[in-house]
Amino acid sequence: MTKDERLRGYYDEKLETLTWQEKKRVLAEQLKQAVALAFERAPAMREKLESAGVSPGDIGTLEDLQALSITPKAKMRQLQQTSPPFGGFVAADPGELRRVYCSPGFIFDPEGRQSDYWRLQSVFFNTGFRPGDRVLNTFSYHLTPGGLMCDEALASIGCTVVPGGIGNTETQVQLLAELKLTGYVGVPSFLQALIARAEEDGMEFGRDFQLEIAVTAGEMLTDASRRSLEDHYGILVRQFLATADVGAIAYECGEKNGMHFADYRVIEVVDPETGKQLGPGEVGEVVVTLLDNPVYPLIRFGTGDLSLYEEDLCPCGRTSPRLMKLVGRVDQVTKVRGMFIHPSQVEEVAAAFPEVRSAQAVVEREHNRDRLTFRAVLTESSSQEGLASTIQEKIRSVLKLRADVVFVNAAEIHEPEKRILDLRQWE
Ligand SMILES: [Zn+2]
Repeated sequence: MTKDERLRGYYDEKLETLTWQEKKRVLAEQLKQAVALAFERAPAMREKLESAGVSPGDIGTLEDLQALSITPKAKMRQLQQTSPPFGGFVAADPGELRRVYCSPGFIFDPEGRQSDYWRLQSVFFNTGFRPGDRVLNTFSYHLTPGGLMCDEALASIGCTVVPGGIGNTETQVQLLAELKLTGYVGVPSFLQALIARAEEDGMEFGRDFQLEIAVTAGEMLTDASRRSLEDHYGILVRQFLATADVGAIAYECGEKNGMHFADYRVIEVVDPETGKQLGPGEVGEVVVTLLDNPVYPLIRFGTGDLSLYEEDLCPCGRTSPRLMKLVGRVDQVTKVRGMFIHPSQVEEVAAAFPEVRSAQAVVEREHNRDRLTFRAVLTESSSQEGLASTIQEKIRSVLKLRADVVFVNAAEIHEPEKRILDLRQWE
């Protein structure tokens, strides 16, 4: 199958190509029903609305969600222990559940009986899987939902699944070769490990084994890793974002320019401190509300992932906004002049300049104003000429902030393990 054939078409053309304004109206209608159901049947959600002084009728638009607090994933274990086993978030009787998983952090994740529970069928179709694909699924089949949620979605869209699970590199290489598998699902690093092992064993890509498509999640897909898989091996590589709590969140289309918001959920990017919705290009926490889940009607679930979105029209024809990339985790952010910055952004700036050996962003407070200084250690032979202003421009594009750039010796960097050093003192 050609790449064009994989990337042509939609899983649900009507829904995916509604104008964003129309789509928001559809989502708002679904939201009203979801909030009413959650209020009626999930005690923790009823309490969330009541403590905000909000009645279900007050939530009529996506913007109205801002009146409600965020339920952070980091608190889920504690909430579940307080009101076992699901913290009061489940709207069904235990017997109505199909499975219960246990994710890292000892968080219980319920799964209902409706088909396409995790909403991953559209994700796998739109990232390029097609009926007839033979797919090695390397997410874990134990305790956590990753393996089974992908397995069922792939099988439902007509793929044949080989439930590889995690580990067993040697066996999985043999499966790739002997079953002539066409697809891979899992973390990108394990795919690279499989290919490396196959080559060590004297196998040749294209002759002894072959993959047409790999769809990854669960860890950062770096540009370098994607490039090596796409350019060197000709594998179509796409990624998606999902969690064990809410299932699908976003996925890449053929254009490879960010991950479209998945359907049947409201995706917000919010200020982690205030919960207010942020605009395009602003870094904040990804917050998810499930719209069609009568079992686990989570409203404003904080994933802890930091991202930013764009809403300009994608050439693929899908109209939903796109998460541009994952920036890091919310517990590592520092707020500077109202903008959240993250260690990975400092690394991104440093990595763009071969002259920069290491770097640290220092935040200070002067005259009631935050001051940001980017301290860079250069490699020995580098010239400083013009470099500071080029780095400044890069900082402005990545961090959306103005910073001073200074070049220092390695010894002048304090606490060098920190990418961001916050020296502000608050009275
Ligand atoms: Zn697109």
